[in-house]
Amino acid sequence: MTDQPIQNCGKCGLCLSVCPVYQVLKQEQASPRARLQLIKAFEKNDLTASPLLKDLVSQCLMCGACKVACPSGINHYAKFMEMRRKMATAQPDPPVIRSLVYLLAKEYRLGMGVGLARFGQRLTPKFLADKYRIGNIPVRRFPKMNPIPFRRTVPGTIPAKGPRRGRVVYFVGCATQYLFDDTGQATVDILTCLGYEVVIPKGQTCCGIPMMFHGAGDRAALNMAANLHALADAVDTGSCDAVIVDCTTCGAALKDEYPALMDTLTRRPDPALSRRRDPSLSEKLDALPPGIHTRIAEKTRDILSFIHDHGQTLDMRPDLTSDKVIYHAPCHTRNSFNAAGTVTDLLTALPCFDYIPVPDSAACCGGGGTFFYEYPQIAAKMMAGKLTHARAAGARYWLTDCPVCRINLHGSLSDIDAMTVAHPVTLISKGLKQ
Ligand code: SF4
Ligand code: SF4
Repeated sequence: MTDQPIQNCGKCGLCLSVCPVYQVLKQEQASPRARLQLIKAFEKNDLTASPLLKDLVSQCLMCGACKVACPSGINHYAKFMEMRRKMATAQPDPPVIRSLVYLLAKEYRLGMGVGLARFGQRLTPKFLADKYRIGNIPVRRFPKMNPIPFRRTVPGTIPAKGPRRGRVVYFVGCATQYLFDDTGQATVDILTCLGYEVVIPKGQTCCGIPMMFHGAGDRAALNMAANLHALADAVDTGSCDAVIVDCTTCGAALKDEYPALMDTLTRRPDPALSRRRDPSLSEKLDALPPGIHTRIAEKTRDILSFIHDHGQTLDMRPDLTSDKVIYHAPCHTRNSFNAAGTVTDLLTALPCFDYIPVPDSAACCGGGGTFFYEYPQIAAKMMAGKLTHARAAGARYWLTDCPVCRINLHGSLSDIDAMTVAHPVTLISKGLKQ
């Protein structure tokens, strides 16, 4: 069903039952249904931009659950994204968020920012790292930055191990690039063991989703153009069986948001996108091979579903002992890729896992990009039940395939919790024969 207008909302309330923010606050104004009405009033000029309106619009994880639940076919996600663009100019974000957007907009800036952060992590005394928090997370429990950005540690083309089955392109998100190189290495190891040549094109940068969430569609468009240029050759030259992502939020960018943003930029001009538009953007978009965003979108696969499809051929060590694991399903894995069931099937099938289902594995953890920082009290309430169930399960690993969830889950545990938070691929790769 194509996106339906807000007028089609029948006020049925189904979106309220799936909205993690509404479930915590239990206030109509915090519901997806109310957010739509606010947008409608704003578009009719019955409401003007204000800090309160901005807060009500921003108090949302962009999890997409409301869109999936809506029987009237309303694409809340797209409407919230557009509203965020409009609000960004009227009510700017706080300096910390603006700095983050500024860093993510250029790869060299991000690299320098990460370098400084790594230096800061080394120099910060333990008592300060214990005392200060980002949202609810003590600074000490933030992940250590990669010593070397991941893409610099691997060649641009990595040959298949054994008989060659095909060729895939790997889009490495900035979390793998700068924080979780274990995910990147494991992804490459598994894909090559499955018989795929892995191509990691140069010139990749942040997918742009964090910028889109904060209304900076103009900057996100530049990142989109850079990534489409970076991936284009590898996707169009020779065979390309899939564009692999290890993070479903990056995947949602390639699969859903790039085509939507291209459509907005080329067919339905949006004043909020052209206000601060970089003059070079049109040139960069014009230089792209026609339709490349669609070809990339169609080929985008999340790594766990891809492994699931090849499960029979995964060569695991016969002497494996399985680890007790629980799983937290990130919002984009559930709502953009509809893959949470596939992941739990994989965890059940592979011998390296002793998978223990927990009641709220599909409940949002409150990470939501920068939500955990902006709304720590709401995020803490979302996490509370998850922590209780996770601790009761007695698992060795708490697995998740989103880097922000990984930061949030790990940061919410305490030092006495004997549970490691990890991406499932890291355990799968340890269990491989070679
Ligand atoms: S995107 Fe998620 S958090 Fe935002 S309104 Fe919809 S269900 Fe609620
Ligand atoms: S689920 Fe859709 S139709 Fe029902 S209240 Fe929410 S937005 Fe309106």
